[in-house]
Amino acid sequence: MSDLKQLFENNARWADAIKQEDPEFFEKLARQQAPEYLWIGCSDARVPANEIVGMLPGDLFVHRNVANVVLHTDLNCLSVIQYAVDVLKVKHILVTGHYGCGGVRSAMRDTQFGLIDGWLRTIRDLYYEQREHLAQFGNEEERVDRLCELNVIQQVANVSHTTIVQNAWHRGQALSVHGCIYGIKDGLWKNLNVTVSGLEQVPPQYRLRPLGEV
Ligand SMILES: [Zn+2]
Repeated sequence: MSDLKQLFENNARWADAIKQEDPEFFEKLARQQAPEYLWIGCSDARVPANEIVGMLPGDLFVHRNVANVVLHTDLNCLSVIQYAVDVLKVKHILVTGHYGCGGVRSAMRDTQFGLIDGWLRTIRDLYYEQREHLAQFGNEEERVDRLCELNVIQQVANVSHTTIVQNAWHRGQALSVHGCIYGIKDGLWKNLNVTVSGLEQVPPQYRLRPLGEV
């Protein structure tokens, strides 16, 4: 018997339930996707994008990696952002971290986990930069949670520093980059209120003029 039997049964029930609500749901969805949101979140199994914000298939374009990191050399993440912004024309990018993130915690400890340590390296750098601020917190859990927030804030900045997002603003395209955090302990999704919606909110050193303009 297949180890996946339960999953296929679950899937059949799920598809049935959606079709009961809207018999043409999947046919309509197959013709096009027009999501307004790009979700950039952690791969953690406890942070399922659509369920958290009550969205159906087709509503969210999703990129997930360990500790929701946005690097300017990551072709995967940048390609997702480029397609979402230039082609799908999403209006909102939702960078969502979560409290108790194992990736963030690993970046604060001296244990090796292998290849992943390199992926998390920029969070270790952020931990070092913020060491005095983080030292004010009473215990490791609080320091981890605060660094989870600071990591989201850093990734919002990284997204808004990409030429993909800045060129959208140059074109006059409405696009906001939001920083949010999810509580695994209470299921609540919180706005960190660090939204960036235009070039004037970006520090001058990170602002680029349109391509070709000198
Ligand atoms: Zn995580």
